[in-house]
Amino acid sequence: MKCICGNKEFHAHQKCRLDIICDGSGNWLKDSPNDKSACYDAEDPYGPFTCTKCKIEYEELVKCPDCDVVIPNKTKIGLTCKGCGHIFI
Ligand SMILES: [Zn+2]
Ligand SMILES: [Zn+2]
Repeated sequence: MKCICGNKEFHAHQKCRLDIICDGSGNWLKDSPNDKSACYDAEDPYGPFTCTKCKIEYEELVKCPDCDVVIPNKTKIGLTCKGCGHIFI
């Protein structure tokens, strides 16, 4: 999938678990100094997704049924795909 500008990379969010240093009460003190295990067990990226080039924001990465362009899912009805001209009804 790609943005209408042709770019295929998006800023997104991802939850992951961090190795940290805590005190004896289980309260966070600082991030673990060990870079190698800094972030692991990451979940799937979630939106909003923002194109890294033209900065268009997408709630979800939903593909046009006729081409490879991502469509802004909230305004789907009445929208014309800028990649192939597909009209959403
Ligand atoms: Zn773009
Ligand atoms: Zn299309």
